[in-house]
Amino acid sequence: MNERLPILDIWVDPVSREEAKARVRGFLEQGTRPYAIFAANPEKNFSVPADAQLYECYRQADLLLPDGIGVVLAARLLYGARLERLPGSEFIFDICQLAEAGGYSVFVYGAKEEVNRASVARLQQRYPKLRIAGRANGFVLMEEMPQLVEQINASGASILFLALGSPRQEKWFAAHKDALTTVRVVQGIGGTLDTIGGNVQRAPEFWCRHNLEWLYRLIKEPRRINRQKILPVFALLVLKRWLGMRVAHAAGRSGKTG
Ligand code: UDP
Repeated sequence: MNERLPILDIWVDPVSREEAKARVRGFLEQGTRPYAIFAANPEKNFSVPADAQLYECYRQADLLLPDGIGVVLAARLLYGARLERLPGSEFIFDICQLAEAGGYSVFVYGAKEEVNRASVARLQQRYPKLRIAGRANGFVLMEEMPQLVEQINASGASILFLALGSPRQEKWFAAHKDALTTVRVVQGIGGTLDTIGGNVQRAPEFWCRHNLEWLYRLIKEPRRINRQKILPVFALLVLKRWLGMRVAHAAGRSGKTG
């Protein structure tokens, strides 16, 4: 795989959808431990470095998806990399497809009970041969966590979808990964179950195709402004980094010729 690209204070793996799927296939077929898949987007550029534990989770992640258009554009500007956006909320379906085709079972942990139940039913409807080994809502008490881990292990699941939101899901992974005996792939899917089995709608295709999903979500949920006001700051910081790289490059060239 191409080398992981630093994007300001986080990283992204420059993978196409097919390459990302091939990585997941590799984890499932040859893996010896749980492999973590998380999303790289502008929001994470601020939340990850601010939390040492979350930072470690990202640093050690096995696959960081180009989840947000901001990260895709930054990779283009800084490195000339031509990435396609691969949102975690879509990649879950690629993993389900792989699981269905390869006979790997999944466990779905997270979100409210009714959302979790409805999501599992939807996934089963969409992938009739998918083996759903188990599910649990995301409000399991701390003291019940050992039983949940036991339940996941006893289910024999190879894939775990973690839908606790960030940073809860990454920290859950860090705390429990060593206790997972059968799971080989863990995807942190944030609030995705709310779009699968709840009443939060993903943007219609037009908005997604034009990379405007963020705007659609902002119009639908104006309280997201708090999250999205970081986007212009992110853009400015990327520009500043790009300028810095150009200046360093020019200085290097004149140093060589001078
Ligand atoms: N959630 C959960 N357990 C908790 C807190 C939250 O399962 O203790 C779920 C919540 O129901 C929602 C998701 O985590 O489905 C958080 O969604 P959000 O969109 O905030 O996460 P993000 O995608 O931004 O990480």
